[in-house]
Amino acid sequence: MNEARTIKVALLGAGSVGSQVARLLLEHADDFEQRAGARIELIGIAVRDPEAPRDVELPRELLTTDVERLILSADFVVELMGGIEPARGLITRALESGADVVTANKALLAHHGPELFDLAERVGAQLYYEAAVGGAIPIIRPLRENLAGDRIDRILGIVNGTTNYILDRMHTLGDSLEESLRIATELGYAEADPTADIEGHDAQQKAAILASIAFHTHVPVERVHCEGITGVTAAQIAEAERSGHVVKLLAICERIGEAVSARVYPALVPAAHPLASVHGGNNAIFVEAAAAGPLMFYGAGAGGVQTASAVLGDLVSGARRHVLGGPGTGESMDADLPIVDFAEIRTSYQISLAVADEPGVLASIATTFADHGVSVATFEQSPADDEGRATLVIGTHEAAEGALRGLVEALTAIPAVDRVAGVLRVEGVNR
Ligand code: NAP
Repeated sequence: MNEARTIKVALLGAGSVGSQVARLLLEHADDFEQRAGARIELIGIAVRDPEAPRDVELPRELLTTDVERLILSADFVVELMGGIEPARGLITRALESGADVVTANKALLAHHGPELFDLAERVGAQLYYEAAVGGAIPIIRPLRENLAGDRIDRILGIVNGTTNYILDRMHTLGDSLEESLRIATELGYAEADPTADIEGHDAQQKAAILASIAFHTHVPVERVHCEGITGVTAAQIAEAERSGHVVKLLAICERIGEAVSARVYPALVPAAHPLASVHGGNNAIFVEAAAAGPLMFYGAGAGGVQTASAVLGDLVSGARRHVLGGPGTGESMDADLPIVDFAEIRTSYQISLAVADEPGVLASIATTFADHGVSVATFEQSPADDEGRATLVIGTHEAAEGALRGLVEALTAIPAVDRVAGVLRVEGVNR
């Protein structure tokens, strides 16, 4: 081992995650020195307002607004500000100055990952991002390193704790989506503006990151089809339970022949699937690999101190590399597999229709399914209400999204069909 030395760390951000990273680094400096083989010295913490009150008390002399100067004195820059700019510019400057970077910034990586990875490779620096997906759960390193000798066929991820909390509450307590969201906000599971979570954008960014690593192929976030949970109704949750399923918002990354797909939507998962038992705000990533078989990575997908664990893991392992030398692990995006158009994705569906309970309705619906090449697997009709309206829940065999889209349009045009009340895909079944 080389002579023990000091590794200088600049922390950008002291919010939920950054303040915990700073606290743990300061409290456990001796342990980290032993594990890394070098003293990990926190040389400064960039914030917007050094005087702002903070949950964690941090030495005032470490807080600074001079982020540029801080970066230039560091061996490691830990970016925990979030957002695209100035994080992107600062990480670029850090890498160009020869520093290694640790970040938890999924938005930045999903939108600008390739340019940052290219830059890191060009300048011989490392860019670590374990905390960007799944918070405390180790998933980036397992995919990049432990499973590098295997072929990943599919990933089904519950990667957003807010939406899992909401859907779980709808299942366990029978609450509406609005009520569940209100409680989630009250308890701090949802942010004041929950759009990125409930519209699926947060999961979409994570799906882009996971698919890119798993398939060694850059999957741009714009190519990840995304539907959130805002359309999920209490009636659909009840129907899911009747048919032996649980509704989960899934980030799905799939190898389809010699191509790949990444998509996000609420889906029916069989109640016996391991993902069905992921409750509350937890996350889980279910990986199907050719040789390893199914693996599940489970735990806290967010939280300041939990996420700090993943950030510090990157930091200690990066510090060890500084001490021991040797090449780092660059990104391998060389497979360059084509991305399947969403219209070609095949799954089975559960379609809920609000209809008039009158003669001939079933026949016209059955004909419409047949015309669009979607075959019916199961069928359930609720008793008609006082106004003669009933709900039909139709399960289908596998069909392409394109066919489904045409079918839904045609069903809507049938006079006796009031509306297509909902469509959920079925995932987590052998195909
Ligand atoms: P946060 O609580 O909003 O904290 C952001 C911090 O960055 C604050 O300390 C803020 O300074 C500082 N900051 C923002 N813009 C700045 C600028 N222009 N110059 C200097 N400082 C600036 O964020 P967070 O929840 O800790 O999240 C940090 C990152 O971790 C994000 O990328 C997020 O996606 C990721 N992440 C978070 C979690 C989680 O559970 N929170 C989980 C996984 C990943 P002030 O304190 O002065 O305002």
